Amino acid sequence: MRNKKPVHILVLKILLHILFFSFLTVVTQIGGLIYLIAVLSTKDKVKRTTLFTILYLFSTFLITPYLAPFFGREKIKETNFLKAHSFFYKLTNRNYVKPKLNKAISQIAADFGNKNNGIRMVYLDANFPFIDKFPLLPHLSHNDGKKIDISLIYENTNKQLTNKKPSISGYGIYEEPTRNEYNQNKICKKQGYWQYDFPKYLTLGTINKNIKFSKKGTRDLIKCILREKSIGKLFIESHLKKRMNIVNQKVRFQGCKAVRHDDHIHLQLK
Ligand SMILES: [Zn+2]
Repeated sequence: MRNKKPVHILVLKILLHILFFSFLTVVTQIGGLIYLIAVLSTKDKVKRTTLFTILYLFSTFLITPYLAPFFGREKIKETNFLKAHSFFYKLTNRNYVKPKLNKAISQIAADFGNKNNGIRMVYLDANFPFIDKFPLLPHLSHNDGKKIDISLIYENTNKQLTNKKPSISGYGIYEEPTRNEYNQNKICKKQGYWQYDFPKYLTLGTINKNIKFSKKGTRDLIKCILREKSIGKLFIESHLKKRMNIVNQKVRFQGCKAVRHDDHIHLQLK
């Protein structure tokens, strides 16, 4: 009996390591590997945590931006008009795109900002820095450097456009269809696609409760996106497409296998 306990503990420890490794890989791509290096380097927990933190920050902010171009991607270049919704996206390496997309979003954001008093284009998940086909979960297609999610535009109580957004994570607060509008969510859910509105659990909380969806602001942003020649497709829910009176072949339905797009816009290169 005496020998059994350590074996159980050892198995549990290995399982925990695998769990941490998988979680960090799924969320940040490089975190799992760095965790592995830290675990193999020292047994002391404090030293291990410190080593992981230093290595992770060093790799994320100083090494990865220089390595990503070898994989055909680069870090999103932020400007006064183009910003991440939160530091999380940069801390987790979810802010990499192909150079062509980097250029396109920079131009779209400047175009939109110049026409709208400096209101920003805010990005959410883009792609990881390395390896084509490596998925950036929970997204199905953000695996090739050609995709990026953008926040909708909102207005304050004076009907002026604002940079504020309603969700802490950037996802999951929906601009729902009215009773008379087409309800894609209902249709997908009825067909058994339970995940279609899953991001409602990923908001991390609601903020800025006094802001409202801006039909005009979001429409202007979409128009700037559609004017950009390198952009091949844009996803937004059809009730919003109709409400904003957008008619353009680039604007498509992403399918019930994905998630709903009335909390953000998805765009991708041709
Ligand atoms: Zn997307």
